[in-house]
Amino acid sequence: MAIGKVLGCAGFQHSAVPTLREPVRLRAQCRRRGKTVSMSVQKTSKTVQQAEKMLQEFRQSSSTPLPLLHQVADALVQEMYAGLASEGGSDQLKMLPTYVENLPSGSEKGLFYAVDLGGTNFRVLRVELGGKTGQILSQEFKEVVIPPELMVGTGKDLFDFIAGTLASFVDTEDESIKAHFVQSGKTRESGFAFSFPVRQTSVKSGIVIHWTKGFKVDDAVGKDIVKQFQDAISRSNHQIMISALVNDTVGTLAGGRFNFDEETMIGCIIGTGTNACYVERADAVHKWDEPLPKSGEMVINMEWGNFRSPYLPRTFADETVDKDSVNPGDQWFEKMISGMYLGEIVRLVLARMAKEAELFGGNVPVKLLERLTLGTPHVSKIHLDNSPDLDVVAKVLKDVFEIETTTLEERKIVHEVCDIMGERGGRLAAAGLYGILKKIGRTGKSRNGSKKKTVIAMDGGLFEHHVRYRSYMEEALQELMGSDAAYEVALRLQNDGSGIGAALLAASHSHFK
Ligand code: ADP
Ligand code: MG
Repeated sequence: MAIGKVLGCAGFQHSAVPTLREPVRLRAQCRRRGKTVSMSVQKTSKTVQQAEKMLQEFRQSSSTPLPLLHQVADALVQEMYAGLASEGGSDQLKMLPTYVENLPSGSEKGLFYAVDLGGTNFRVLRVELGGKTGQILSQEFKEVVIPPELMVGTGKDLFDFIAGTLASFVDTEDESIKAHFVQSGKTRESGFAFSFPVRQTSVKSGIVIHWTKGFKVDDAVGKDIVKQFQDAISRSNHQIMISALVNDTVGTLAGGRFNFDEETMIGCIIGTGTNACYVERADAVHKWDEPLPKSGEMVINMEWGNFRSPYLPRTFADETVDKDSVNPGDQWFEKMISGMYLGEIVRLVLARMAKEAELFGGNVPVKLLERLTLGTPHVSKIHLDNSPDLDVVAKVLKDVFEIETTTLEERKIVHEVCDIMGERGGRLAAAGLYGILKKIGRTGKSRNGSKKKTVIAMDGGLFEHHVRYRSYMEEALQELMGSDAAYEVALRLQNDGSGIGAALLAASHSHFK
């Protein structure tokens, strides 16, 4: 299936919103709308023109033409080789072996839990797997927000909170399930999807390397994350065994393998942060010094958020976001494409336009100067507004920045800034995926016109909800592959992939098999 068809985004290609590359028409519209005070019209036009000029420059500096995307992909491939060669990875890409040698086969059976610590949200899941039918018979989940103070506190406090949430979720089990565990004498098992860089030491243990996405729990670094969690579970007076420690991308890949018929080779998340994993030939993992797995394959967690390259089109806004982050200098790729940063990047651009081109009038709106006021969901809301008057844009500007009234021209500029950044993010993400496909030999031209299929299992709030970002991403991936490609690549949303995948991998690595 073609990517566009899978995600059905074609409707967004031709927005009803006029673009800003039509200043003459904009001014004519102004007249038609019957603005009466000619001085103010002139002033608006002048400031709009100034803002438009800044916008053009900004569009230029953020542009991602096809040759640049190829350069980005090639630079990523080079780093992948470097990361696979050296223990600990390259400067940029850790390329972590996950100890996952076998992905779910579809025959996993029983009731399993999963805990998914992502970034913004934290989920606990209960999943019943049907065995040979290859089906998920039932699933329930609970989602909670991690209290901000725990994101920068101690490991004990964070894990007590997580274990407590899991324990109270387990307590909500049906009586029949409780009876099943009593009768079988089995301990409940859970997968743990943990979306931060970990050096795995087995499929159920791993050392935290460092935190990302605004987390900074210093005393948990350098220690086994499963042990810390398991200790907290004991303190909660529950018996639950963590059977698989899974990066969220690996969970997503595992879920894809379980659900989709075509070959799923990559798991990728674009949510608060971003990362990808893929199925590598085990003998290509030069730093692997243990016996080669029987399957001949090894899932590699790239930790691609830390990729950086001079080809990445960085702007002043990226530099500011980086400088103000808890991890300056790190995670360039992540900071350019993921949800934690997109809103702030757009805010910084708008603030500069307000200051330097008097966008929104002579006084710069105070809220516009406040950090982190604009969230990425606002950005996608603005971007998806294709009403002729951009009413949603007006509402967001009012609600978020307390800008009571705006002109249509101003709203178009705001819309365009969101478009520029959404396009850049989506296209760069596509370049990353193309790099992985290239590394595993799934690019190139078709010799006889036939095409093989590759699926990329996707998850993450930004990918899921920001439909325009997603369509930019799939368009760019098609462009990179070329019309005569040997492989047909499909991006498929593997909803809640990381959690369900963690439960699946807990099942395939169960102690009671
Ligand atoms: P996590 O990455 O924390 O595991 P998710 O995958 O659910 O969690 O992603 C949440 C992130 O997705 C949010 O931080 C936000 O940046 C982004 N997001 C959520 N909703 C939307 C939306 N409607 N539009 C764009 N981005 C969104
Ligand atoms: Mg997540």
